[in-house]
Parts: sequence; C-alpha cells; structure tokens
Amino acid sequence: MSNIADNLNKVQSRIAKALAHASNRQSDVQILAVSKQQHADAIRELAALGMHDFGENYLQDALPKLEQLADLHLCWHFIGHIQTNKTRLVAQHFDWVHSVDRLKIARRLNDQRPDQLAPLNVCVQVNISEEDSKDGVAPNAAEQLVRQIAELPRLKLRGLMAIPRASSDFEQQVQAFTELKSLFDRLNTGGAQLDTLSMGMSYDLEAAIAAGATMLRIGQALFGPRPA
Ligand SMILES: *Cc1c(COP(=O)(O)O)cnc(C)c1O
Repeated sequence: MSNIADNLNKVQSRIAKALAHASNRQSDVQILAVSKQQHADAIRELAALGMHDFGENYLQDALPKLEQLADLHLCWHFIGHIQTNKTRLVAQHFDWVHSVDRLKIARRLNDQRPDQLAPLNVCVQVNISEEDSKDGVAPNAAEQLVRQIAELPRLKLRGLMAIPRASSDFEQQVQAFTELKSLFDRLNTGGAQLDTLSMGMSYDLEAAIAAGATMLRIGQALFGPRPA
C-alpha cells in the first residue's frame, strides 16, 4: 500500500474511533484534505482513493494545481487569509471559502462571484481563542457578521471555522472547540441555518469530533510532512 493510502486508512480509523467515543453524535464527519504545499500528483493519488474535497491556503500555489487537476472536477476550498486584492480569483476558482472574517471581504466575494457558477459556500472564521495574532472575527461580533453575510445572494453561508490556540492537552482542545460549537448552536437557535462546523486538524481531530465538528481539515496526517 502506498503511504497515502496507508495514511488515509489511519485517519479513517482515528475518525471512526473518535465517533464511537462521542456517544452524543448523530452524523458523520467529512474530511477536507488540506493539500497546501503538496504536489498535484499526491492530490491525484488521494482523489483516486475517493477524496473529493481539497483545501488550499495560498492562492498563487493553488491556481496552477487547480488547472492541472481540472479533469478530476474536485471541490476546492480556500482556507487561508484572504487579501482584498485576491478576492476576485478566489471567487472565480473556488467552491468554498472557510476564512471569511470581515464584511468587506464577504461583499467583494459576493460581487465577484461569476454568474454562471453556483453561490460560493462560505464559513465565517472565528478567533475563538481571541489571540491577537490570529485571523477571525471576535466571537462577540460573529452574530452580526453572520447576519450580514446571510443577506448576500451570491454567497451561501454554511457555517463557522476556527483554528484554536495550539494545545497538546486534550481537555483544553475540547474546551476551545466546544466554544465554537456553542456559538454555532446559538446562531442556529437564532435562525441562522448553519450546517458546517469546520474545525480539527491532523493533531486534534479527536477533540474536534468530541465537540461536534462536521468537517475536519486534515493535511499532514494524509499527505505526510509538507515538502519544503
Ligand atoms: C495547514 C492547515 C490545516 C491542516 O493542518 P495539518 O496539521 O496539516 O493537518 C488546517 N487548516 C488550516 C487553516 C491550515 O492552514
């Protein structure tokens, strides 16, 4: 078995085990394969194993790969910081954006989404650990942003995304993810109709599942270490 096939098996069994431990969960969890810095060949190999959703965070690195892999009709997610002058290319080439954290970016993506494409799926990125260095809207400003984005016709608001402060402690990881899940539930109680909770990466996917993630963003555990 190739490394990538072996890695995928391992990730799937970690997920199955975590779901079995989370007795309160009803639904399955989706894998978003984070292919940043990975070569197109590795993406092709993972796609051949049934993976359909791939995440990239640097536009310049991503665009040539999207072109090389166009024959596969993959679903591409933009998960990185978005600069104002990059919104048009993101709106033209991606199916999802997980990192919308201000209205200005949302408006530009909405205005620049080509008419012949379906509305762009978006998640609002929340700075759940309230770190100065992190992207993401402050948790107490998320509700307003969600309400404003829901009004934009060329965007389809899907949910929330966060990258909590790194911790090797499982309970701390669960606590941070649970804060995002609570915000998600509150917004839905208020009528937001969100279906996606994008949280959990290679090293903390078990905690994210325990807290109710619906989409895991997994890079190194699938592809191995990122090439330099
Ligand atoms: C790189 C990245 C990931 C994946 O991280 P791994 O540790 O490789 O699983 C997930 N989300 C975002 C936003 C990333 O930039």
